[in-house]
Amino acid sequence: GSDRALERGMAYYKPTRDSFSADRLTMVSELRHALREQQLELHLQPKLSLSTNEVVGLEALIRWPDRQPTIRPDEIIILAEQTGLIKPLTRWALEESLAMCKKLSEQGWPLGISVNISPNNLLEPDFPQFVQQLMDEQAHQPGQITLEITETSMMRDPTNSLAALRQLEAFGNPLSIDDFGSGYSSLSYIKQLPASEIKIDRSLISDLINESEDRVIVQTTINMCHDLGYQVVAEGVEDDETASLLKDMGCDIIQGYLVAPPLSFENTLNWLDHYSGQQRKLG
Ligand code: C2E
Ligand code: MG
Ligand code: MG
Ligand code: MG
Repeated sequence: GSDRALERGMAYYKPTRDSFSADRLTMVSELRHALREQQLELHLQPKLSLSTNEVVGLEALIRWPDRQPTIRPDEIIILAEQTGLIKPLTRWALEESLAMCKKLSEQGWPLGISVNISPNNLLEPDFPQFVQQLMDEQAHQPGQITLEITETSMMRDPTNSLAALRQLEAFGNPLSIDDFGSGYSSLSYIKQLPASEIKIDRSLISDLINESEDRVIVQTTINMCHDLGYQVVAEGVEDDETASLLKDMGCDIIQGYLVAPPLSFENTLNWLDHYSGQQRKLG
């Protein structure tokens, strides 16, 4: 292939000193190749309900096994966003996640999967149609695929982003607001977004035990989100004490190394089989 996607990307990102370095260009063409040759993987991280101790869903997170740990997942995404590769990458992630949903359900695990969506995707004019067509073709059940968007997704073009989100939601895809509390959030967006879930960013969760300010912010966020009708997920829960504190605060769902790290599809199945047999006690 040519570097048309790359040229397109250059139009909307500010070159820094090493943006055009040979290493970088090599990385871009390797990423394009990896995507085409199915060398990228999606690992799955469980979401656990604090009220029932049951797994209520999984989040898909990108992995590039050949380049681990040289390039982190968020760096893969930034690279893809800057070069036009994010469009095919997200479409691949959605297709792959639907296929995994189907396999999981055949194995007795009818769990939904959350897919992270880049702000750029929301501004692709045909993105909602693409998603709807994919869902129709694959006979998916409404609610199977949740779309995770960050609160800053709206900033570049709020009107068109919101229109895309409304369409996606109307097609039966629940929306989740990721990394809440990490960026420049505007409470007026929270009010408008057609989302059903809010994920509190790990930066507010990791020191919950020691930081009383974080506890105030997290408790207030949980209360506000519940009053607005959202489910609340806490990201990055690593220990029992934090989980039990979050349960007392009324948080609905946790994700984090305490429950499980992101796992390959194979290991997810093993983990689910093992986990379902042992009633884990939290709090
Ligand atoms: P995110 O969507 O907020 O995902 C949560 C990140 O926290 C993941 O990092 C996950 O591995 C990590 N994590 C989960 N539990 C814990 C914990 O207990 N402790 C710690 N320290 N970390 C935990 P990861 O996989 O490196 O992904 C980073 C970010 O890259 C994601 O943040 C998301 O914004 C982006 N990303 C990953 N995969 C995709 C994708 O397929 N598409 C898009 N657009 N973005 C993706
Ligand atoms: Mg996420
Ligand atoms: Mg997040
Ligand atoms: Mg995060």
